[in-house]
Amino acid sequence: MKLASGTTAITNGTLVDGNGGPPVRDAALVIRDGRISFAGPMREAPTVEPEATRIDARGGTIMPGLVEAHFHPTYFNVAALEDLDIKYPVEYVTLLAAANAKLALECGYTAARSGGSLFNIDVWLKKAIEGDLCPGPRLAASGREICGVGGLMDWNPDFRKIGMDGLVLLVNGPDEARSAVRKLVKDGVEWVKTYPTGDAAAPDTNDHHTLCMTFEEMHAVVSTAHNHKLKVTGHCRATEGIKNALRAGYDAIEHGTFIDDEGLELLLKRDVPCVPALYFELASVERGPEFRLPPRVIDGHKETLEGGAESARKILKAGGRLGMGGDFGFGWNPHGDYARELSFFVKYVGFSPLEVITCATRTGAQIMGRGAEFGTLEPGKLGDVLVVDGDVLADISVLEDRTRFIAVMQGGVVKAGQLK
Ligand SMILES: [Zn+2]
Repeated sequence: MKLASGTTAITNGTLVDGNGGPPVRDAALVIRDGRISFAGPMREAPTVEPEATRIDARGGTIMPGLVEAHFHPTYFNVAALEDLDIKYPVEYVTLLAAANAKLALECGYTAARSGGSLFNIDVWLKKAIEGDLCPGPRLAASGREICGVGGLMDWNPDFRKIGMDGLVLLVNGPDEARSAVRKLVKDGVEWVKTYPTGDAAAPDTNDHHTLCMTFEEMHAVVSTAHNHKLKVTGHCRATEGIKNALRAGYDAIEHGTFIDDEGLELLLKRDVPCVPALYFELASVERGPEFRLPPRVIDGHKETLEGGAESARKILKAGGRLGMGGDFGFGWNPHGDYARELSFFVKYVGFSPLEVITCATRTGAQIMGRGAEFGTLEPGKLGDVLVVDGDVLADISVLEDRTRFIAVMQGGVVKAGQLK
């Protein structure tokens, strides 16, 4: 991805640098050749050359670009889980994924970590974005997901003989788990996404208290992935599934819904980040009837919502790391609504706006393994910046309204917002 050349000075705004410290009023941010050279109070800012580009933050907020830590570029606002796998051919879903990536960038997300993708689309989307072929967040790719046979993600009936190969590699036993990871190594993914547990979406055979992989399978995934320098994460709702994942050596936990004290201790011991992706549950409860979700499914989402909120509070309070990402791409929580996750964590879970922004910037970048490159506004880091016409600490829901973005920048280049 190209960096800007020359100097840009952003002034007349409050600096929220992503580190969680107090905001700096009347601040300046200076970007030279795509990298931050100064972030701090205006009175200490260096003088910039007359030909520098100047951006007026209009008394609003200067903050790091947001990181979507659980992004499904190929989920295309489906109304039923089944549609994720077989509704359209891969050619069309690739185009939909490119449109979703562009939208995410316009929504202020300058980086995103894929939580799984149809075929290998996110791997190639990442290359296209890095090569400036199409706009989108800096991506970490996951490719196809891994799940046990008969588990949550194994829904196509055998008589159709179409398998689940578009979305999921199904495994029976550690040998098949190893072989699935080896396929993904060749595909070029960075994260291996697995399904240790079920979900409220499948109340009959794979609900949120059901295990979908054995510990042996999960351990085989981790040892193979780590050998090839890939990281492993998993959809973890059930208490035992969370602990299996942590004991197997997982590098992150998705959801962490029903974590108990023992699980929390395991999580904290290795400082494993967790991405709750929880607004999805509220959206499922509130808008489920409109999309004809069965009452049992909605009840399960209610339980998940309360359990997940409690676990997220526990983890943050105990000093654990949370990433903000939202499983967007279903009819009831479509792409474009990403920042609703942030408002939700303030209004429903009870975090402060500053805590949520730190999770959505610095922690997101750390989860991607790129904390040294972006996620905070500090000298030397990439100029991935969001300039907002509004005080996001007073009202975080300002971030839901992308018409209020003055600039969304990657490497100092304005990619979206009013100044684009
Ligand atoms: Zn997901």
